[in-house]
Amino acid sequence: MAKAKQTSKKLVIRLEIRKGDVVEVITGNDKGKRGKVLKIFPEMRKLIIERVHFMKKHVRPTRQDPKGGIQERETPIHISNVMLVCPNCNSKTRIGHHKLEDGSRVRICRLCKEMVDNR
Ligand SMILES: [Zn+2]
Repeated sequence: MAKAKQTSKKLVIRLEIRKGDVVEVITGNDKGKRGKVLKIFPEMRKLIIERVHFMKKHVRPTRQDPKGGIQERETPIHISNVMLVCPNCNSKTRIGHHKLEDGSRVRICRLCKEMVDNR
């Protein structure tokens, strides 16, 4: 199976996904899961999604927690592995841009052409 595609050009980093957006994972073990974006790491192009992409961490017994056990925490997932879920049509979608009359740019859903941003 082919590894991740190599892109010839370096793309300018412009994150289309923002904190608070609902995204769907499109690849990997968590494929199909949806959740709200809790945190974004723009320089790494990674984000943390609520209740998605857990990593199990074994915790040794300590004095405070004599049983120890397994802790689960969300771990960052690469932005290319997720797609935005449009709040209007509830489908995973690509993001387009639209310029409003006042000159400000908003994100729109390419499927239903509705604004994605809460305004
Ligand atoms: Zn839509």
